[in-house]
Amino acid sequence: MNAVSGSANDTSTGANAHAHFDHDVTIVGAGPVGLALAGWLARRSATQGLSIALIDAREPEDSASDPRAIAVSQGSRTLLEALAWPHDATPIERIHVSQRGHFGRTLIDRHDYDLPALGYVVRYGTIVHALAQAVRGTQVHWLHHTQAHDPVVQNDGVTLPVVSAGVERHLRTRILVNAEGGLYRAPPQRDAQDDSDETGAKAVVPAAETGRTPKRTRDYGQTALVGVVTLAAPQPNVAWERFTSEGPIALLPMGGVRGADYALVWCCSPAQAERRAQLSDAGFLAELGVAFGARMGRFMRIHARAAFPLGLNALDALVSGNGRIAAVGNAAQTLHPVAGQGLNLGLRDAHALADSLAQHGATPRALAEFAGRRAFDRRMTIGATDTLARLFTVDFGPLATLRGLALTALEFAPPVKTALARQMMFGQRS
Ligand SMILES: Cc1cc2nc3c(=O)[nH]c(=O)nc-3n(C[C@H](O)[C@H](O)[C@H](O)COP(=O)(O)OP(=O)(O)OC[C@H]3O[C@@H](n4cnc5c(N)ncnc54)[C@H](O)[C@@H]3O)c2cc1C
Repeated sequence: MNAVSGSANDTSTGANAHAHFDHDVTIVGAGPVGLALAGWLARRSATQGLSIALIDAREPEDSASDPRAIAVSQGSRTLLEALAWPHDATPIERIHVSQRGHFGRTLIDRHDYDLPALGYVVRYGTIVHALAQAVRGTQVHWLHHTQAHDPVVQNDGVTLPVVSAGVERHLRTRILVNAEGGLYRAPPQRDAQDDSDETGAKAVVPAAETGRTPKRTRDYGQTALVGVVTLAAPQPNVAWERFTSEGPIALLPMGGVRGADYALVWCCSPAQAERRAQLSDAGFLAELGVAFGARMGRFMRIHARAAFPLGLNALDALVSGNGRIAAVGNAAQTLHPVAGQGLNLGLRDAHALADSLAQHGATPRALAEFAGRRAFDRRMTIGATDTLARLFTVDFGPLATLRGLALTALEFAPPVKTALARQMMFGQRS
């Protein structure tokens, strides 16, 4: 969704641009972030009397087939609990971090932080389902099977073309929230002036006439292979992050009989991912066993195999369009899943936005406050995830030794470990 500027007297929308608004706040995207925002806003906005629209091209039930399992942090659980909580959440009590073929490991245990769990593993489909149930009972005007197109910004609001059952119409809204999510896509070369910074990330400065918001991108040259595996000697409620020369392998506990089911996220080169996608289940599990090691015995079964491209795509600014368009969730940033932060950061953004809108109404002031509040946490979370994704995937001897030292040092420097763990579990909220 790319904003285009129009004049306040623009008649191309067919709407009365001055007086009439269909909604105060229109949210495009009913993924977990858009749904959570709609739910929180509906609960908070009674005082402002805000009218809220939620638009999605799909039904929430379509998410049931999404193969992703997501680690939701303790901080996110605290935010979500008042709204909805999925019935199948598996607590993570301990996280084991190590690197394959080199020394160094660290353990993060819930007891060290006096928490019921470090986080919870939930299926994408069940978190969407739980949040959808919470939104259904509210005054949110929910448009299913409706595709939103590029908005036109005017001085006092935004006009959004939407298509439903082949019919196009234009919605007028005071504030538009882009929660249309998405996965990493490499930017088209012809749009970008290459402007790599010292870390190699590219600032994509689009041609002025496209009206797109500048963003920072990095292609990690990795693909995530996901699936649900069953292990012979499971350690229930323990999550594993194992760094290999190809990329990290994460195993997240999902319960099942004897706690033996784990969600797999195996990051490797696109070429290896393509080759492995062609392997039989037995061939795939044999390679996975070699890459991960035998810490939980043999990999016995796998299902729900899928692949996701990985990269960083982060908007420079959360607010655009004369201060009337905000971006949240994956629409604002797609991250490498190495630290399990994408949804958690998106939920913190959505919660802060609901708060600002409930306080200041559907105004540019609310969005400006929201952007200010979220700047530090975004910088920290995007920076930490990007650093981890790059540092832990280079197969260079001296660097592997340094990584080993860093992991070992964490064990002997509890304050540093605590600060890192707290950032990952709770982020920064203000
Ligand atoms: C392999 C993998 C593992 C991950 N693991 C973790 C993890 O452990 N922890 C974590 O926090 N995060 C994780 N993530 C990230 C997480 O999945 C995302 O951050 C999260 O799903 C983003 O949610 P969202 O609501 O912003 O977007 P989405 O989930 O993409 O939802 C967007 C919605 O918008 C709708 N939409 C899009 N465009 C339009 C349009 N034009 N009109 C109407 N509707 C539209 C779509 O139909 C969809 O319903 C992982 C990601 C991957 C790929």
